[in-house]
Amino acid sequence: MADFDLVVIGGGPGGYISAIRAAQLGQRVAIIEREKQLGGTCLRVGCIPSKALLETSHLYEQATHRLKDRGIKVGGVEIDIPAMMTHKTKVVETLAAGVDGLMKKNKIKRFLGHARIDGPGKITVEGENAGTITSAQIIIATGSQPATLPGIELDENLIGSSTAALKFEKVPQHLVVIGAGVIGLEMGTVWRRLGSKVTVLEYLDRILPGMDLEIAAEAQKLFRKQGLDFRLSTKVTGIKTTKTGCQVQIDGADPVACDRVLMAVGRKPNTLNLGLDKIGVELDPRGFIKVDSHFQTSVKGIFAIGDVIGGAMLAHKAEEEGVACVEQLYAKYGHVNYDAIPAVVYTDPEIGTVGKTEEQLKEAKIPYRKGLFPFAANARARATGQIDGKVKILAHKETDRVLGVHIIGAQAGELIAEAVAAIEFGASSEDVARCCHAHPTLAEAVKEAALAVDGRTLNM
Ligand code: NAD
Repeated sequence: MADFDLVVIGGGPGGYISAIRAAQLGQRVAIIEREKQLGGTCLRVGCIPSKALLETSHLYEQATHRLKDRGIKVGGVEIDIPAMMTHKTKVVETLAAGVDGLMKKNKIKRFLGHARIDGPGKITVEGENAGTITSAQIIIATGSQPATLPGIELDENLIGSSTAALKFEKVPQHLVVIGAGVIGLEMGTVWRRLGSKVTVLEYLDRILPGMDLEIAAEAQKLFRKQGLDFRLSTKVTGIKTTKTGCQVQIDGADPVACDRVLMAVGRKPNTLNLGLDKIGVELDPRGFIKVDSHFQTSVKGIFAIGDVIGGAMLAHKAEEEGVACVEQLYAKYGHVNYDAIPAVVYTDPEIGTVGKTEEQLKEAKIPYRKGLFPFAANARARATGQIDGKVKILAHKETDRVLGVHIIGAQAGELIAEAVAAIEFGASSEDVARCCHAHPTLAEAVKEAALAVDGRTLNM
């Protein structure tokens, strides 16, 4: 008998959630992670620490610029970067310890080290818990790492990925962000609030590629007003570094001088030294592991989920895939509805989206109706002074089924949950409009946008 029923490689949200679900279904499970802390990129150097810094920098901005208008006078406000970082580290440590606890509670055996697959059911661990393990099934959940541009090396100092931008020791004078995607905008926002001049260089003629264009355009307008300097249709070709700073070279324009560069041009799958080529696990042309509809790779008994198989690089997408993969294996059901995977950008205001964008509907020639409602017309938003943004609902023209919801505004990351439920349950915009929403709440803007699909908003 093999040592385990299931071995999961990678301790991020995709990996550890897969392990927990398999243990719940009665399997003998192990998880291999080379970092001491479980939790993966998301918990150690991604979603969680960035949210801690976003919150601290938000409070600082409130104290220095916003409280005055509400009749609150504060003086002598200062940012203490080491204290801000200590808070961030504590948040990460507490949550990582929580994941350790979950492994113990579910009797999942943890191995510390780098895993290499020697063949179906056979794994070698290198590092602290070195040895060989056998397992009936294997799930690869090794995630992704920051990508860079050709010819530009990340030194994680002057030219850094998000990992470096999460631990700058002092506020850069001029931070150049390459890429106006989620990471660029979130980390750019943190350091702008703390006093950096931030220039965002983006190759495309828009920010937030893939997001509904009307919402992305509104976001760009608001972020520009806050002080982010966007240079669109700008191709970065190289970076020259000196002892103290960088010269970012641009195709057809003068270089931009700065003291730090944040490279945020996407992420690439982690497949190095996993032994995949030797055992015949196929990759696609971009290096992602190819899987079938059951998350099985080209080798029987070896599965893969999360960032390493491509698609949206989101912790919750990886978790859904992990649960579905494990349930298909041990409970004979399991499914991921990719139309109901939300995405959130944690800027101010936040952006929350789910389902199809207006551009996707046009391209697929799907007839739709659109409902818009601005937060400026929402009582709670007025009371809290968070009037920027709007809710946009796209529903099928004939069936009225909700196809996409795109929100830019305060708490959009929380508000989008209602839209996810609506899409998951196949609701119509009429269904959403007929749900009673408490007054006064920001969520009423979602109800009003649903009413707007049928041209009958009540408060505008
Ligand atoms: P991204 O793919 O979202 O954006 C990268 C941007 O870089 C694109 O706009 C692209 O056009 C631009 N770019 C590429 N080459 C360029 C060049 N030569 N010059 C200028 N611009 C160039 O990637 P990201 O922001 O690095 O994020 C990586 C992944 O992590 C994404 O999949 C993202 O969804 C995920 N992520 C999600 C969250 C969240 O959900 N809140 C947070 C962080 C990261």
